[in-house]
Amino acid sequence: MLQPPHSSLQVAAVPAQRVPVRDRDQDAPWHTEAVCRRDEAGLFFAPSKEPTAARLSREEAAKRVCARCPVMVECREHALLQPEPYGVWGGLTAAERRVVLARRRRRDVELKKAAGAGRIAQAG
Ligand code: SF4
Repeated sequence: MLQPPHSSLQVAAVPAQRVPVRDRDQDAPWHTEAVCRRDEAGLFFAPSKEPTAARLSREEAAKRVCARCPVMVECREHALLQPEPYGVWGGLTAAERRVVLARRRRRDVELKKAAGAGRIAQAG
């Protein structure tokens, strides 16, 4: 399993740079380009007993970091596929990821139903 980019903080000597997708090394793991390694892990994961207003503010700040991350799509899919139960990943909170996963499950069920109906129609 990949290490969460924002859990292995390393303070970089250089400022974060946006790397165009086409210029990326396609063999390099996506998290090597995560900008959140240069930020604080506390921004992405809730401390215990965090008040709601503080959580919302922290999550919005984390999402702003994600919004300038060149690997946001890869990060989001990683968090959805694991699934990662905590923290902001790919610009989505854990609750938002649960909604996406529920929608995907419903879509898969509908597709299977439609495929089954198609087979029945062809056989009949
Ligand atoms: S999308 Fe956000 S959480 Fe994911 S690697 Fe980029 S900055 Fe970190």
